[in-house]
Amino acid sequence: MNNLKKVTIFDTTLRDGTQGTGINLTLKDKLDIAARLDDAGIDYIEGGFPLSSEKEASFFRLAKKENYLNSKIAAFGSTRRSGNKVESDPYITAMLEAETPAVVVVGKSWKEHVERVINTTFEDNLEMIYDSIAYLKDEGREVIFDLEHFFDGYKGDRDYALKVLRTGTEAGAHSLVLCDTNGGTLPTEAMDILNELPQDELAPIGVHFHNDTGNAVANSILAVRSGATHIQGTINGWGERCGNANLCIIVPNLALKMGCDTNMNEKIEGITSLSRFVAEKANVIPDKSQPYVGDTAFSHKAGQHADVIAKAPELMEHIDGKLVGNKRRILISGLAGKSTIVRKLAKYGDYDKSSEIVSQLFDDLKEKELQGYEYEAAEASFDLIIRKSLGRFKSLFDLNNYHLESFKTNGTLSKTVGRIFLMANGIEHMGASVSNGPVETIDDALRDALSETYPFLSKMSLIDYKVRVLNPEEASHAKVRVFITSSDRHHSWDTVGVSENIVEASWEALVDSMDYYYNNYVLEKED
Ligand SMILES: [Zn+2]
Repeated sequence: MNNLKKVTIFDTTLRDGTQGTGINLTLKDKLDIAARLDDAGIDYIEGGFPLSSEKEASFFRLAKKENYLNSKIAAFGSTRRSGNKVESDPYITAMLEAETPAVVVVGKSWKEHVERVINTTFEDNLEMIYDSIAYLKDEGREVIFDLEHFFDGYKGDRDYALKVLRTGTEAGAHSLVLCDTNGGTLPTEAMDILNELPQDELAPIGVHFHNDTGNAVANSILAVRSGATHIQGTINGWGERCGNANLCIIVPNLALKMGCDTNMNEKIEGITSLSRFVAEKANVIPDKSQPYVGDTAFSHKAGQHADVIAKAPELMEHIDGKLVGNKRRILISGLAGKSTIVRKLAKYGDYDKSSEIVSQLFDDLKEKELQGYEYEAAEASFDLIIRKSLGRFKSLFDLNNYHLESFKTNGTLSKTVGRIFLMANGIEHMGASVSNGPVETIDDALRDALSETYPFLSKMSLIDYKVRVLNPEEASHAKVRVFITSSDRHHSWDTVGVSENIVEASWEALVDSMDYYYNNYVLEKED
């Protein structure tokens, strides 16, 4: 392992990541995520900007009590202000008060910003940088110096950008992080600039790319090729505008393809679960097509590809998905042949193409597809069809009846009230709810009726709901197809329902989602 290039991974999900649209984390979420990042072997966790809010400052107070095994917590702040004494500057003080082993000091390296944003002289900016880094280092902190707008600064005035790098080095920075703050740098430029730097004379180089040209990952891995030893990014690539460099892609590339040594290498099979855990915490639907960790990263449509996959997967996949904790999926579609069904059945035993059950499932599938069902994105519903045909299905309940009534009075929003009567474990239960719409109402009422018998249902929730009109030319008689994604924080699964009635279609998908959870994760405890 010693001849591998060592790369340090710095996570800024909790700071830069939360700048992404729709990313909101509570204090508890941040602590939970930090624990998982530590567990995954991340070297640095940037916790936030302690001066910005009480929530940010309290993260550091609580994180201090944790015993992180792999990660150093870093507080973010900037150089002292022009004219301030470093000892009394509020940014510097806030970083010290966070009492973290590492601090991230952001400073200007683009002349335009020195002149037009912080309105000071180029010399004064260098002094601000030197004082801040030297002081924090004297106070026992490991100082990571983020050079804001470095690439634009370098293109504007190479000599000044170099002066900033040398100042950081002389002041004792642990690493110099070249930031592409506006995210406009292309891979060739990033590589050329890194190759031009007198890296031997400087503190170790890190990079922090934003994704505004869609190249944050490419830039990061090329930077490693060009000497960088410290990579900053976020889980799932979240960040303002188009996001930050995505660590869920960069780290597998470094570990599995570039022969780099990171502290995450040993636990790289946990990265899919890390990606989904963080998405759950942020209440964001995971991007299914995300490289390495997305649901479809190793999925194949039935047909010829799937046949090759069965015989020689290395011919159809760039890596084995298991290496990153993901799994191969063979998607069921109208093109599905019997061999695909055989593979789907393999989970339950060995079945031959010519067996009766395979023919039966083949016919059922054709029939269902004619009615508008689609199982490519609803494998859980297909799993239930298989279970039912194998006699390996146990239903949660039998419906007696449900009743929904929507009401609206002038000037108020519409509400739906619902009641449900059902039999579970031989006993009749009633559930009731009042919610905004019929689907939410029926979901609530169903949970109300089942909560006592099946308390485990509280662990699963509906995380996405999609409706598609199948034959819009039929107007209000058109069929709708509903897809529901459910999750229990460890797994997610998709179900489908089809009907002319949106409530009925939703009901089908909803019941499937609960039945799937019950049969696969409660009765049979899958991994
Ligand atoms: Zn940034």
